[in-house]
Amino acid sequence: MVTAVNSVAQQAPVLDVMRRRQDFPILHREVHQHPLVYLDNAATSQKPWSVIEAERHYYAHYNANIHRGIHHLSQEATDAYEAVRDKVRDFIHASSREEIVFTRGTTEAINLVASSYGQCLQAGDEILITEMEHHSNIVPWQLLCQRSGAVLRVAPIDDAGQLIIEQFAGLLGPRTRLVGLTHMSNALGSINPVKALVELAHRSGAVVLVDGAQAVAHLPVDVADLDCDFYVFSGHKLYGPTGIGVLYAKLARLEAMPPYQGGGDMIKSVSFAGSTWNDLPYKFEAGTPNIAGGIGLGAAIDYVRNVGMSAIAAHEADLLAYASAQAKAFPGLSQIGTARDKGAILSFTLAGIHPHDVGTILDAQGVAVRTGHHCAMPVMERYGVPATVRASFALYNTRPEVDALFHGLAKVREIFG
Ligand code: PLP
Repeated sequence: MVTAVNSVAQQAPVLDVMRRRQDFPILHREVHQHPLVYLDNAATSQKPWSVIEAERHYYAHYNANIHRGIHHLSQEATDAYEAVRDKVRDFIHASSREEIVFTRGTTEAINLVASSYGQCLQAGDEILITEMEHHSNIVPWQLLCQRSGAVLRVAPIDDAGQLIIEQFAGLLGPRTRLVGLTHMSNALGSINPVKALVELAHRSGAVVLVDGAQAVAHLPVDVADLDCDFYVFSGHKLYGPTGIGVLYAKLARLEAMPPYQGGGDMIKSVSFAGSTWNDLPYKFEAGTPNIAGGIGLGAAIDYVRNVGMSAIAAHEADLLAYASAQAKAFPGLSQIGTARDKGAILSFTLAGIHPHDVGTILDAQGVAVRTGHHCAMPVMERYGVPATVRASFALYNTRPEVDALFHGLAKVREIFG
């Protein structure tokens, strides 16, 4: 279990979880007269004081629009926002700041690539994705297929929720122009061997977009090592604000791509006869961005780097192992997603009880989990279930919180008999 995470975990420094919990004000509140046990981190993570404070400080002290202003506040805001681009570059090991495009999140970043890069696709070309993708990494490609006449192919997963590599390789062919795959599944926790898959795809001439929405908060990410063409993620799953995300793309790709949206900031010159585009990455950043969100994202990256990505991975691997052992022993519980290489997500069903009922009873005890299809309906279809219960862990979760989850599930069993 958790092989990649475990290999990181072996050399990792220890995470002082009780100290870290002090950094997250929301963790001290109660829900329905119980201490909050927040296990919905795959949907969005909670924010440390440093992120909250970075946004507040921007609004209180140097709120101004960026890039265009000659006045002092505008320059301060521009410097702070642009410093985050360098931080992101360093965090994911991109080779230049021009390769970092700010977006609203993962979803917008994928749509940007589908709209812009997608313009080079033609009828009969193929896009290959996997069966474990989030809707964000399915629907933009379906729309592109409708526009271009390209065909969507889907590489299947096995019963454990692992991509079947031979079938993935078999689906790559001379018509495959683009591969979209998740680094870590939000519904199953499975971690894909991205580096090897990118190599396979490149060998057959396809470019690769990696959806890092989940992985970025749990694993060290190195886009240079992965050699992917595009890597996308959202700030809000990385302890940062909502409404800010990142598209990393190799420079040569961005240079060849047409603009995504038109408007201010993405142009060099405008006349009624025609317009010219700004330098990278601004060509892809039309309009006033989420300045406060960007600054908050910078604080979030500082925060996780300070804790240490390998310490986070080790702590979460321990939580997952602890939770998985209890899950195995729990009567009527079926785990959905038991990949060897897995992030800190426990997805399951309880025999004879609808996941929404499970979620409601857990909520009454202060335990927040997600129930539903997790924006991955094809995964639910693959397992023949309408929904699952998903507990997803973050750096601030503890073993007693895992115990609270299973104590809550015992109550569910008691109520439903
Ligand atoms: N991809 C994965 C794997 C996700 O888990 C999510 C969100 O849950 C997304 C994409 C979409 O992210 P966002 O809604 O932040 O754009």
